Amino acid sequence: MVSRVIPVDSFDLVIFGGTGDLARRKILPGLFRRFLSGQMQEGSRIIGAARSELDAAGYRKMIAEAVAEFGGEEAKNKKGLAAFLDHLDYVAIDAKGDGGWDKLAQLVRQDVIQAFYFSVAPSLFGELAQRLHANNIANAKSRIVVEKPFGRDLETARALNETLAEHFTERQIYRIDHYLGKETVQNLMAVRFGNVLFEPLWNNHYVDHIQITVAETVSVEGRGAYYDKSGAMRDMVQNHLMQLLCLIAMEPPSQFGADAVRDEKLKVIRALQDIDHHHIVRGQYDAGPDGPSYRDDAENPRSFTESFIAMRCHIANWRWAGVPFYLRTGKRMKARSSEITVVFKDLGHTIFEGDEARHRNILSIRLQPNEGMDLQVTIKEPGPGGMRLIDVPLDMTFAEALGDEEHEVTDAYERLIMDVIRGNQTLFMRGDEVEAAWAWTDPLIEGWEARNDVPKLYDPGSAGPEDAMMLMHRDGRRWRDIKG
Ligand code: NAP
Repeated sequence: MVSRVIPVDSFDLVIFGGTGDLARRKILPGLFRRFLSGQMQEGSRIIGAARSELDAAGYRKMIAEAVAEFGGEEAKNKKGLAAFLDHLDYVAIDAKGDGGWDKLAQLVRQDVIQAFYFSVAPSLFGELAQRLHANNIANAKSRIVVEKPFGRDLETARALNETLAEHFTERQIYRIDHYLGKETVQNLMAVRFGNVLFEPLWNNHYVDHIQITVAETVSVEGRGAYYDKSGAMRDMVQNHLMQLLCLIAMEPPSQFGADAVRDEKLKVIRALQDIDHHHIVRGQYDAGPDGPSYRDDAENPRSFTESFIAMRCHIANWRWAGVPFYLRTGKRMKARSSEITVVFKDLGHTIFEGDEARHRNILSIRLQPNEGMDLQVTIKEPGPGGMRLIDVPLDMTFAEALGDEEHEVTDAYERLIMDVIRGNQTLFMRGDEVEAAWAWTDPLIEGWEARNDVPKLYDPGSAGPEDAMMLMHRDGRRWRDIKG
């Protein structure tokens, strides 16, 4: 199967923070792949902007090195890389100063799609937005892309929304959550709303519970000072896990359009019930044979910040009343794995004699590694020996299912950037969604801060603290194994 690539209109994309880690690791290598695929037209340009004094040649060299390091197999295409680099330019600019803006104004064209990627600290968003207008660079059709973290609580998120709103309308603002750009996440919507099979079962009559796990093996080393002020709740749950929860739990939107989808996601967030603190487990990784403890990584011996969190949530609506949603995420865990699992209810009655085993249908949606889905179904064990039942997965790993060696599952960043150019906001968070998510998160954080709650230690390379296991065991359920 040959993947169909539809070129996007010509654009000027300015990347503020174009010399930073995110730009070099994700944004530029992603754009290079889109260029190779033919999606980026000849007339398009990418302009890096940061304080470093570089000229265009220096920037191209930096990006050539970044693509070689992070661009995967495609980076070996030297001819392609040279052609891509021709589309790059650079302006030395300080978001807080006046230098460089004239040059940017000359470079950015007004007759093509303009996008400004704010890949810098959020404290600079306001300055950038204001200067883009003061220097007559942005126009009413320009788009801005903003990175996480979007605030650290409701108050700061609201302030950030208000700052951006002074210069750009909501239609122009693209708040990135790269989880939403993942192939599987979109496939989740296709499976739910494109098949007759699942939606009738997608409710509290048939679903026992849902688990969402985002496990990382990395520590916070290198970003400990930042992370220690944030923690797993702010860094992962408020945005990524919440977005996954929304997609799995939302009502069918009337159409696959930005506001229809985001309206339904917002309703889910607003229907989330408060969580009793007994249903939240926070953890911190301990020192292990191959690494220091969280507190050492964070250089804060008295830190109460969580590097792991597990919780049981409920959504108060007709569809989900009584169905627990178990969420967990953490650093330094046994494997890098992100998975959503829908565990269906037991059969009311088994007709098969001697079948004591509990057979359950389980739909698991893997975001990483091996993006894909499988549905566990019960069948007769083949061969003689009577009617013995076993559970087997119906596997649908995309790379295999699509049967195309050339097909690469498109990286989330490149997909989302192309959506910005196309003007499609469906996979971006709207301002009210972000605020609603903080409104739910804030009291939980305030609760454990007021109680001086001390996170439980867990061994690096484990599935988190023992209490997280108990959170499920108490309900007669268990977490799925974390497999890389
Ligand atoms: P970074 O490596 O520290 O890069 C920051 C960039 O901003 C650099 O290009 C820096 O270049 C530029 N910069 C700093 N101050 C500036 C100023 N006053 N005016 C103009 N440019 C300025 O940070 P990063 O990791 O790329 O992250 C960028 C943003 O993405 C942050 O908001 C971060 O939270 C978010 N994010 C990053 C990741 C990731 O994987 N890295 C993931 C998710 C979200 P100069 O020093 O040359 O000015």
